[in-house]
Amino acid sequence: MENNKVEVIVVGAGPAGVSAAITLARAGKEVLLIERGDCAGDKNIFGGTIYAKQTAEIFPKFWLTGPIERAITEQKIFLLTDYNSTQFSYKYSSKGAYKAFTVNRAKWDKWCCNQAEKEGAYYAPKTLVKELILKDGKVIGIRTEFEEFYSDIVIIADGVNSLLAKQIGLRKDIKDTDVSLSVKEVIKINKEKLEDRFNVDEEDGCACKILGGPLKDKFALGFMYTNKDTISIGYSISLDEIKKYKIKPYELLDELKAHPTISAYIKDGETIEYSSHLIPEGGYKAIPKLYDNGVMIVGDAAMLVNNVHFEGTNLAMLSGKIAAETAIEAINSKDFSASSLSKYYTKLKESIVIKDLKTHKNTIEIIKKNIHTLSSIYPETACEFIEILTEADGIEKKVKYRKFLKDIIKKGVITSSIPLAILAMEKCLKR
Ligand SMILES: Cc1cc2nc3c(=O)[nH]c(=O)nc-3n(C[C@H](O)[C@H](O)[C@H](O)COP(=O)(O)OP(=O)(O)OC[C@H]3O[C@@H](n4cnc5c(N)ncnc54)[C@H](O)[C@@H]3O)c2cc1C
Repeated sequence: MENNKVEVIVVGAGPAGVSAAITLARAGKEVLLIERGDCAGDKNIFGGTIYAKQTAEIFPKFWLTGPIERAITEQKIFLLTDYNSTQFSYKYSSKGAYKAFTVNRAKWDKWCCNQAEKEGAYYAPKTLVKELILKDGKVIGIRTEFEEFYSDIVIIADGVNSLLAKQIGLRKDIKDTDVSLSVKEVIKINKEKLEDRFNVDEEDGCACKILGGPLKDKFALGFMYTNKDTISIGYSISLDEIKKYKIKPYELLDELKAHPTISAYIKDGETIEYSSHLIPEGGYKAIPKLYDNGVMIVGDAAMLVNNVHFEGTNLAMLSGKIAAETAIEAINSKDFSASSLSKYYTKLKESIVIKDLKTHKNTIEIIKKNIHTLSSIYPETACEFIEILTEADGIEKKVKYRKFLKDIIKKGVITSSIPLAILAMEKCLKR
């Protein structure tokens, strides 16, 4: 690197930044990847699963050499009432292609950065970017605590708060309704016990989503993921709901952990990690302008998270890759203007990133409006139905069926479900 100048600087070594850096390095471009943490992953928390398809596009066959915890072979949905639960499970054979894996972000991000370095990217950890350097309305570099670095293009991959995108007016302060807070614990547990409780083979794992119970009537979703010998458990909740209900986030997590269904999975475990983080959830409507002269924004910084399908890392990686490909074209044509970099957004619109976010542009709104039905009435109804089906309590079945039907009509399950389904389909199909 001569005179602290490279072709591209990438700020932030999460999934978005690493994908951008590695794509540029592979094309022989000079790229500097900067991360404020001691090592990448230090300040990252997530549920969570990475998705095989997009990850393999950047790291082919990563499951053979990367620090994977478990391959997901079962997806579970828990519908909780105050004390009981109904569970749905989709189990797939580990003989088929793996679709998702749990990872520990501290180990995973570090491994990803090592790959980027091996491919030729300069990597600068423990380096906080304080601000972008601008000249004549164009981003020409970055300023750290100690020195300045210059580049033709800066790719901003600094995550959900993106102070850098705010500095140049591409992002405003995030609205409470467009972001959720996630709190999470990692619970250490005997490996055999974990495999028994989740009914998974060695190396296989389970991803669980949790609705209702202590989270009922709130726009909140719980999760549990199996790692090698730990369980990640937590939930995310909209920031406006935290304020509205004056929720103490860790108390609510304790309530979730104490629910009889959930506590059976984690009992005898020891909490070894406690963390919280924001997740963008504004979706399509909250996406800011993603490029300007000499600059592009990727990943969470660009608000590219699909909350309806629990996807973030894959969209981050894909947006990082597409931004890097746009940068490569710009370097080859020596045109770093906003008009040249606008191709990034054009390509993003043709990809699943924007297409999927657009499909769900109204879904969160619909879910929020119907949260009582989804998180309270559905779990109760499902549990009542299973009880009727399985209980031999001497009461005539006809009497029970009549009561059940009367109850669900009274609770509005049918009347609320039909318009909900029609509305959801109509909104999803309409582009
Ligand atoms: C609890 C939780 C559960 C989740 N579960 C899932 C899941 O199961 N699957 C999934 O796909 N996604 C999940 N997500 C979302 C996913 O974690 C994010 O979408 C993804 O990490 C975004 O990647 P990114 O690279 O854009 O940002 P980040 O991963 O946030 O990385 C940004 C990086 O920039 C660095 N940085 C920030 N500012 C500076 C600066 N000024 N100078 C230098 N470095 C800086 C940070 O230290 C960080 O390393 C979850 C998120 C949370 C919080």
